[in-house]
Amino acid sequence: MTALETDVVVVGVGSVGSMVSWQLASRGLRVTGVDRFSIPGPFSAYAGESRIFRKVYVEGGHYTPLLQRAQDLWRDLEKVSGTRLLNTTGAVTIYDEHNPRLASLIAAAQEPGLDCELLRGEEARTKYPEHVIRDTDVTVFDPEGGYLNSERAVTAALVEAARLGAKFLGNRKAHSVETYGDRYIVRTDQEEIIASRVIISQGNGAGAVCKELGVHLSVLPQILTWFPAVDPSGFSRQDVPVFLRRAEEDGRSDQARFYGFPSADGWTVKVVGSVYMDEVESMEKPPTWDPKYLDPIRAWIREFIPGLIPDPVRVAVCADGHLPDETGLLGAVPGMEGVVAAVGFSGHGFKMASALGAIAADLVLDGTTATDVSFMNPSRFLGPDSRLTSLALSTND
Ligand SMILES: Cc1cc2nc3c(=O)[nH]c(=O)nc-3n(C[C@H](O)[C@H](O)[C@H](O)COP(=O)(O)OP(=O)(O)OC[C@H]3O[C@@H](n4cnc5c(N)ncnc54)[C@H](O)[C@@H]3O)c2cc1C
Repeated sequence: MTALETDVVVVGVGSVGSMVSWQLASRGLRVTGVDRFSIPGPFSAYAGESRIFRKVYVEGGHYTPLLQRAQDLWRDLEKVSGTRLLNTTGAVTIYDEHNPRLASLIAAAQEPGLDCELLRGEEARTKYPEHVIRDTDVTVFDPEGGYLNSERAVTAALVEAARLGAKFLGNRKAHSVETYGDRYIVRTDQEEIIASRVIISQGNGAGAVCKELGVHLSVLPQILTWFPAVDPSGFSRQDVPVFLRRAEEDGRSDQARFYGFPSADGWTVKVVGSVYMDEVESMEKPPTWDPKYLDPIRAWIREFIPGLIPDPVRVAVCADGHLPDETGLLGAVPGMEGVVAAVGFSGHGFKMASALGAIAADLVLDGTTATDVSFMNPSRFLGPDSRLTSLALSTND
């Protein structure tokens, strides 16, 4: 088996892995990235054209520095690549006034530095004509929200990393990382790679790593859907914002959420519902899916966006890895200080992938970072004295 040597191995070159590769290469490191699919590839969690970016973060103000750093880095990546990646259309969130999370949404909109607009009734109906706005609805507009061209962003980071010397090895699966003297050895099914540092950014393939870090990673496939517009011009104007809506007030579960984008192609609108398929162990082979998963999304379209034809003309399936606390793991693996885990971003990681990559680079090189990510400490599910010397990187060996 071939043995390679490099400064840093990046295991999993998807959303975060591409960003960390760009960051490390721009800091002068020799980077080797490995992925079980091609690089870039069609099956990673960034697939399906776009991902929402928002600054009003109902998940908590502790994300604010991370989101700010991410926004700055997306702009840097746009400059180096000459490509438009972050489209600032604004983002409107629509909650019923009885929604138990409304207070958190309003608190998030009042975070320092944000300049949000709260509208109801006729004013909201005039501003958001593509949505059904009921008298009990509250709308919060985040002017810095919008969407990222996710596949373009990953590709831009890969191109820049490669220009700076990074090497990418696709279509091989990483199986393990072990301490190797004062370095580490990563074993794939095609080679061994020796490096002084390792980043683990395996996305929904991180089940084995999470297990060793004491937590279960749920891999939950989701369906992305594109619906045709009756009058496409209403969904492709410059001022159409991305939207997020919660419909739990009608006795429906907390899962009743959906969001969507301005039309990217001029005639269809991408809408994603929080409709998860049954948990799978791995996305190595795309799962089969049942059309029944479209039913709730079609029902929401009929009820809330009547300008769309409620039958999709395009679907895609992809999955993120979810942790029980819906945050992520970002930091050194206890006992393996040169190995940084950056996994488990639980359905909302793309918008911050640029910052997650930069922070992973800070941590693996300097052991510290200026952005507070202590809430993502990868040791938090393990006992305080746990120390690892090796990690399995895949389950079905
Ligand atoms: C349907 C859907 C909609 C979403 N919408 C949004 C949104 O609007 N806004 C937002 O911010 N976030 C959103 N997210 C979440 C976001 O897309 C993810 O959090 C993010 O893309 C995860 O990045 P990652 O680098 O962890 O995983 P990935 O991008 O999947 O990268 C992981 C890589 O590791 C590789 N890999 C895994 N195991 C191995 C192995 N053993 N050996 C080699 N390679 C391996 C994989 O092939 C993959 O390329 C959404 C997610 C989904 C699924």
